[in-house]
Amino acid sequence: MPALACCVDAAVATPPSQAFIWDGIVPTPESFPASGVSLLTNTTITTAPANAWSPTHSSMLYRVDGWGAPYFSVNSSGNVSVRPYGADTLAHQEIDLIKVVKKASDPKASGGLGLQLPLIVRFSDVLNNRLQSLQSAFDFAIQSQAYGAHYQGVYPVKCNQDRFVVEDIVKFGSGFRFGLEAGSKPELLLAMSCLCKGSSEALLVCNGFKDAEYISLALVARKLHLNTVIVLEQEEELDIVINISRQLRVRPVIGLRAKLRTKHSGHFGSTSGEKGKFGLTTTQILRVVKKLEQHGMLDSLELLHFHIGSQIPSTALLADGVREASQIYCELIRLGACMKVIDIGGGLGIDYDGSKSQDSEISVGYSLEDYAYAVVQAVKSVCDRNGVKHPVICSESGRAIVSHHSVLVFEAVSASSYESPVMPSFGLQYLLEQLTDDALADYRNLSAAAIRREYDTCLVYAEQLKQRCVQQFKEGSFGMEQLAAVDGLCELVSKAIGVSDNSRTYHVNLSVFTSIPDFWGIGQLFPIIPIHRLDERPTMRGILSDLTCDSDGKIDKFIGGESSLPLHELEGNGSVNGHGGKYYLGMFLGGAYEEALGGVHNLFGGPSVIRVLQSDGPHSFAITRAVPGPSCADVLRVMQHEPEVMFETLKHRAEEFADDDDTNGSMSLASGLTRSFNNMPYLLCSASCSLTAANGNNGYFYCDEDTFASAADSVAAEDEQWSYCVA
Ligand SMILES: *Cc1c(COP(=O)(O)O)cnc(C)c1O
Repeated sequence: MPALACCVDAAVATPPSQAFIWDGIVPTPESFPASGVSLLTNTTITTAPANAWSPTHSSMLYRVDGWGAPYFSVNSSGNVSVRPYGADTLAHQEIDLIKVVKKASDPKASGGLGLQLPLIVRFSDVLNNRLQSLQSAFDFAIQSQAYGAHYQGVYPVKCNQDRFVVEDIVKFGSGFRFGLEAGSKPELLLAMSCLCKGSSEALLVCNGFKDAEYISLALVARKLHLNTVIVLEQEEELDIVINISRQLRVRPVIGLRAKLRTKHSGHFGSTSGEKGKFGLTTTQILRVVKKLEQHGMLDSLELLHFHIGSQIPSTALLADGVREASQIYCELIRLGACMKVIDIGGGLGIDYDGSKSQDSEISVGYSLEDYAYAVVQAVKSVCDRNGVKHPVICSESGRAIVSHHSVLVFEAVSASSYESPVMPSFGLQYLLEQLTDDALADYRNLSAAAIRREYDTCLVYAEQLKQRCVQQFKEGSFGMEQLAAVDGLCELVSKAIGVSDNSRTYHVNLSVFTSIPDFWGIGQLFPIIPIHRLDERPTMRGILSDLTCDSDGKIDKFIGGESSLPLHELEGNGSVNGHGGKYYLGMFLGGAYEEALGGVHNLFGGPSVIRVLQSDGPHSFAITRAVPGPSCADVLRVMQHEPEVMFETLKHRAEEFADDDDTNGSMSLASGLTRSFNNMPYLLCSASCSLTAANGNNGYFYCDEDTFASAADSVAAEDEQWSYCVA
């Protein structure tokens, strides 16, 4: 940007419409441009001319190949495309995300499901693919290193306890004995009931702090022939296990959680190491072994568990931890335990920014295959050295299994407009007359610095001038108009110099606290991109501001170290009430933890959720489940309010105050109130949205799997299947 110098010198060189003219001492207000457009630069976005923009440019700009491969890409229409089978996806199997969103959110009258946004789209095929990929990575590592036992993983349900996610995992994993891990009593209850449909050999690993009730429940699970292991987290749990297993006459299968010396120093590793929150120390492990021996129960000790934290940054650290644990495993065998399984916990990381870096908390420098190879190699080498039979390897990967399958889609409803600097009509001369001598001196110095092209000095004087004027305002010697004029002048200076922040605030129909709690809580970044219009050059930059009345409810940090996101201009004013085109954004890789951690700040509940399968019908996808998000009444109940009573109170009030001759009035007030209780708390972006709730918001639309399977066989049935889903 030629910046201020150009602007200052431009009095002669440039036509007045393209620059403001400054005579160096007193600029005349008329010479300031009416619009600041010519001062706005966007060099940071890209230098590609608008007509040369292609979806490929967007893919590079948003690093989609880095974090999205092999599941997400940008298609030739400029929309995000989902590849349900990862690298094995055929071209005709790709799913256009915007079509899914349209199907889910279109009013029922036009064939949609009438769901309100925000929306979580679960791609079950992606979930399946993640599970299969993890299993094959271990199978391959085991085969290629001639390891003497198999891998059988468990899914830690705390990452996402959604019924359909857990049920899918049990179903998809039953062919290879995939199990579940629970860390609390309700998690154990759900794991028990889900595993009734799983493989009989699947493990049910019970972690977390336990009381007698938790332990009895786990022992009951063994009676139900679920392959349950009670992992001792604290030494005191052992006495309870011994007593209750005698009472219930069940042989317990016991595991130990070891506190390793190996320490993962990242954010998620703060619980690892000798001072970590979890697990038994070496001394405690020895005492547990001794006590089991005294009770003749040492043969019940079968599993060794550890967890050095989530997002393990490198395979070097991983291998270090696994070697330490393997040595403990071998020692336990030497002490007489009938060890069978080594459970390496979670920690398999996700590359949220696609940078493949080992020293970032949001990236990892290894693949699934590298991870599995390192684990198998470490266990094998230690066991071979000790002459110990290779154990079954179990892992508790949560993040790595569920992150990819879920996409959060939300709408940007408005954007703060670009405010071009304005100088008021009453004239600069009048303003200058009101300045104190000091302020006037600042103004002169500012002008002189501009002529000398000393831009930093300009900024210093502009800031000083502003401060003095604010002071004058506080003292009452300055009006609002003058203060606004000074703001305009300072803004003009920074724009001309090119230091002003051109980014806009996009208001999104979302709660960060509910849907991206880790951004607020621990500053975790997720890839966020527009899911359509990617064939257009994004001409703006913006931060995202959510609906909550909380200053933390904004997203102003993005992957790649960016403090704003390249975005497209909203069409048709983009205002809530306008009829402009909609602008949809997607947050990716948020399938783990975000749904489970989200709260109801400002009483915004969770999003609507749909489950999508690839289908060979004309739409290439089918929505097999749809659950509207919690209504206002639902979130009110969370805080012990009683929507029914509230409604009655308000209805009586409406009747009381209705005009005598206006019974219709009070009835329509009441029906308006009903709608408000039944709708989701989020903004209704079009009249159609309200149809959702008016039609009942209290169930989910369900298309059962068998019906889906048979319908999918015949293309002709596709439409019937839709209507079934919607029914
Ligand atoms: C949270 C947790 C996991 C899951 O960790 P990820 O890094 O998400 O795979 C596994 N095991 C235990 C004990 C956990 O607490």
